[in-house]
Amino acid sequence: MASETMLSGKNVLFVASEYDGLVKTGGLADVAKALPAALRQAGVNVKVLIPCYRDILAKSPPKVIDSLPVPLNLNRTYGCSVRKLEDQGVEVWLLEHNEFFDRPGLYDHQNWPYEDNPERFGLLSKASFELCRALNFVPDIIHAHDWQTGMVPYYLKVHYQDDPFFAATRVVYNIHNGAYQGHCHAMWLSTLGIDPVDFCAERFEDHGNINLLKGGVVYADAVVPVSPGYAEELKQESSSHGLWHTFNRAGNKVQGILNGCDYGQWDPATDEAIPANYHADDLSGKDYCKRAMQAAVGLEPGDSVPLFGIVSRLTDQKGFHYLVPALHEFLQHPVQLVILGSGDPHFAGQLHHLAETHPGQVQFTEGYSESLSHRIEAASDFFIMPSLFEPCGLNQIYSMKYGTLPIVRRTGGLRDTVIPLTADQGNVDRATGIGFESASMESTLDALLQALALYRDTPAAYQQVQQNAMAASFTWDGPAQEYIALYARVHRQ
Ligand code: ADP
Repeated sequence: MASETMLSGKNVLFVASEYDGLVKTGGLADVAKALPAALRQAGVNVKVLIPCYRDILAKSPPKVIDSLPVPLNLNRTYGCSVRKLEDQGVEVWLLEHNEFFDRPGLYDHQNWPYEDNPERFGLLSKASFELCRALNFVPDIIHAHDWQTGMVPYYLKVHYQDDPFFAATRVVYNIHNGAYQGHCHAMWLSTLGIDPVDFCAERFEDHGNINLLKGGVVYADAVVPVSPGYAEELKQESSSHGLWHTFNRAGNKVQGILNGCDYGQWDPATDEAIPANYHADDLSGKDYCKRAMQAAVGLEPGDSVPLFGIVSRLTDQKGFHYLVPALHEFLQHPVQLVILGSGDPHFAGQLHHLAETHPGQVQFTEGYSESLSHRIEAASDFFIMPSLFEPCGLNQIYSMKYGTLPIVRRTGGLRDTVIPLTADQGNVDRATGIGFESASMESTLDALLQALALYRDTPAAYQQVQQNAMAASFTWDGPAQEYIALYARVHRQ
């Protein structure tokens, strides 16, 4: 039998700080799981490296490498070991260094970031090279993600530049969220092994601090924001999170690739987390899901009133500062709202207040629940996603599949995935949701009212848009092929 390497011609190591099913705070985890699986299907020999956090350690995956010394800088080598799991045929390697990863949180404890985050994730970044060597796995590509692995390109280009093992290796660097940049004090330079000459405005330096994301963009062979729309926004001053010079200098290295959706987990026809399954030809299961939700959370039962859903991290990014005032107005109308979210206590307080002042009409669950997120997608008639910025966004894609019309602000991946219904409904045969432009309370409210009118006054148009949305497909096959083409391109350079 031919070896995996011969079949694929590409060895790829993913290094990430999250992986859906094991540890997740957001969309990065979904991609870190689904993209390797899709690449593997396409014949790529892909492995994944993530930290062995406390929750993963508790599952006791087998230890495969007892001792992996990782020389992070000139002065210190860190003793690590490596455990291993297999998921959908993909090897998931777990970096164990308990002093760093056996902690209650991933990045913070009760919203206080761990002070040694640069060192923790610098170690993860450096370990990707040492793991490859230990496995005798010569990577054609190391595929890094977000600020946590922003050191990977630098290590390749500087620490391993003369190492023949990595002579043909290139780094692809995904930007899932450019707002989180891994800023840290310059005192971390020596720990991270950054040469002081590289602490300058063209490389790591940013207002006197180290900026790990910036360093990643500068040194990577290819930089991939997770939608073409977001890639464009990162080059504009107002939407680049302060890094537009860096993204513009990176020029052609920057290419947006839209995320796919893991329909194995997000399909109302097979979803085990929802009370009834359904598909586009028969939506009676969706009605059942709505009634079950209304009963479960104490909302008035019935079909005549549209149910709006929200599943979100509670952050500025998601637009809560203009959404909440818009909801206060909107709830004067006969509508229902079910919300699941965790994060900023300020927004959580506002949503609790909203629920308390609208009993029987609004239900808010503060927390993180995989199962409830599926049930909200299935039960709702509309899904609200008014983000200030959205690198790709997954929930609007899930919503379309569930026949739940997304209401989105037209930014980044939301713009790239949802076709908004025009005011005159002239594009009803193509539209897949509702859209609005301005990040304001007024525009959000207008979009919510457009949704209400669509549902109440023109049910045939609502059903048509619902069918269009359910027919829209965002599988990982297309993006996987785009990544394979990109791997080949950077490898030729
Ligand atoms: P982001 O990565 O910015 O949070 P995405 O839309 O790309 O936004 O991905 C969010 C993912 O996290 C989705 O899979 C969504 O269902 C999930 N999610 C967010 N908040 C919660 C929550 N409170 N409970 C369950 N799942 C959540």
